[in-house]
Amino acid sequence: MPSDPVLPVLSVVVPCFNEAEGLPGFHERLQAVMTAIGLAWEVVYVNDGSRDRTLSVIDRLRAVPGSGAVACLNLSRNFGKEIALTAGLDHARGTGACIVIDADLQDPPEVIAALVDAWREGIDMVYAQRRARQGDSWLKRLTAKAFYRLMRRIGDRVVMPPDTGDFRLISRRAVNSLLALRERHRFMKGLFAWIGYPARAVLYDRDPRVGGRSSFSYWSLWNFALEGITSFTVVPLRVATYIGLLVALFSIVYGGFLVIRTLAFGNPVPGYPSLMAVITFLGGVQLVTLGVVGEYLGRIFNETKQRPLYVVERFEAARTVGDRT
Ligand code: UDP
Ligand code: MG
Repeated sequence: MPSDPVLPVLSVVVPCFNEAEGLPGFHERLQAVMTAIGLAWEVVYVNDGSRDRTLSVIDRLRAVPGSGAVACLNLSRNFGKEIALTAGLDHARGTGACIVIDADLQDPPEVIAALVDAWREGIDMVYAQRRARQGDSWLKRLTAKAFYRLMRRIGDRVVMPPDTGDFRLISRRAVNSLLALRERHRFMKGLFAWIGYPARAVLYDRDPRVGGRSSFSYWSLWNFALEGITSFTVVPLRVATYIGLLVALFSIVYGGFLVIRTLAFGNPVPGYPSLMAVITFLGGVQLVTLGVVGEYLGRIFNETKQRPLYVVERFEAARTVGDRT
């Protein structure tokens, strides 16, 4: 009879989408780091509907004796990183803390030791902050900077640290708070910030990707930014109202001016171009504001369906607990 499995203290959650190439190397480095930390640990690999051999690579890691405690969570299709992350946290058993890290070695596993040190000092949310963004183009750096500045101004009390990804350590109580937020549109950076708790940054250098390629294009980053804004603030709705007010005010003033001009100089019927200009401008303003309202309406639509966030094809918990001292 197997005795009750001892629960791990630390869970490492790794979302994987087409990462077959780099995963064995990642696991090796992770294992070395976790063993050195010396707490009971497990790693939860979430296969997010990969189209390559990622799943069989994870299964192979599970089979290798002495490769630590490996759990495999296979989602029924690709749900996207944010959902995969949530699924992994749902299935992580770590009693002390969970660590979220990318599989592509852009987040060096060695930083985990520093994250754990901060957690030992009682910090609930230890996020790894990029010291430099080498490997990113200047355009990506510029847009990222603009986004964080915008979010700080309209983010309504929720402050998101800049140059921070999902790579971080989250204490058990913070994970529980995070998992209570079941919204479908999951802007994780925002959710991490929303729950609060003592937080601290640990600086690190982000490495370029090993193998495979990034699944985020500029278009998806743009959508990501929209997601971030619309799921954390209703300021754009208010801006739409103000634009409407401003345009209305302007047309009242302009109307008054026309009345006075007609009284003073008569009406020689010019003004077709200015009429077209005003009509097209107003049409544009209306479409934009309608679009803004539509963005929020679409989100309400998605939330009201109350679907589960993801579907699990199979979950195999770690059989053992990784190296304990
Ligand atoms: N990822 C995922 N599902 C997706 C896209 C990405 O689980 O639909 C994972 C991917 O395997 C990696 C992490 O999310 O571990 C970050 O992805 P990527 O490296 O493509 O993003 P970037 O580093 O360019 O922001
Ligand atoms: Mg990456």
